[in-house]
Amino acid sequence: MIHKQKKLEGQVALVTGASSGIGAGVAKALAQEGAAVVINYASSPDKAEMVQAEIKSQGGTAITFKADVSQEQEVIDMFEHIRKAFGTVDILVNNAGLQKDASFHNMTLEQWNYVLGINLTGQFLCAREAVKEFLRRGVVPERSQSAGKIICISSVHEVIPWAGHANYAASKGGVMMLMKTIAQELAPKKIRVNSIGPGAIRTPINHAAWDTPQGLQNLLKLIPAKRIGEAEDIGKAAVWLASDDSEYVNGITLFVDGGMLLYPGFEDNG
Ligand code: NAP
Repeated sequence: MIHKQKKLEGQVALVTGASSGIGAGVAKALAQEGAAVVINYASSPDKAEMVQAEIKSQGGTAITFKADVSQEQEVIDMFEHIRKAFGTVDILVNNAGLQKDASFHNMTLEQWNYVLGINLTGQFLCAREAVKEFLRRGVVPERSQSAGKIICISSVHEVIPWAGHANYAASKGGVMMLMKTIAQELAPKKIRVNSIGPGAIRTPINHAAWDTPQGLQNLLKLIPAKRIGEAEDIGKAAVWLASDDSEYVNGITLFVDGGMLLYPGFEDNG
């Protein structure tokens, strides 16, 4: 076995939606373990450049790239750019995602398609281009025992229904079966595909749930660990799933949720 000083040394990682929140935290964590990181963003170049600057200030390697993950040609162009910049890609973190909430009877087709287009179709398009590259290159034992690793950022809402968020919950349920199906299909090619299912993580996507004392108190009722998660909690899980430490792990969702899936309503009831 080859022992590396850093777990992801010599590898290239694309993190979609890495200009903010969980994606930024994951990009920094992968860079700390030696991966060269591509910080994808859609509309916030300044925030992407701040993440890049932080990684570089700690001696890491990072570039930024603008692409809307729901647009096929933009995704193809992004992978072409990465091949030119770094030669290949070893790790894809399918993180870009958002919410457009509405009560179900008021949900417009535009709101539905917008969320599904980014959260689910975006993951399909990026995974497909990554897999093409993994298959072309194959295993390079000095880098990793796998030909490639895909980490889908899903949610506890791949299993917990969420009133008022039908488009979002459906997108994450879809991510679960996309992940499992391609994990099964590609395992013989030494490609590993897993998900992380975050619970409530402190990011701009859900600020309304934590930036007032009352909101935070309500939120903590759903979390047995009694603390909100941080992007670093997801970063650590992503490093493990991207590294050979998890080489025999394929097709799972690793929930990082402080116990949110443990039916906390039963703590003092039922
Ligand atoms: P966030 O802080 O709002 O970040 C979202 C990121 O997605 C931004 O970097 C944004 O880039 C990017 N993005 C949006 N649309 C895009 C597109 N079309 N193409 C490429 N990038 C796009 O949200 P977050 O909380 O970190 O969420 C990240 C992921 O974690 C999402 O998939 C979300 O569903 C999941 N998640 C979050 C939580 C939580 O509690 N925070 C819980 C479970 C799951 P720009 O700013 O450049 O547009």
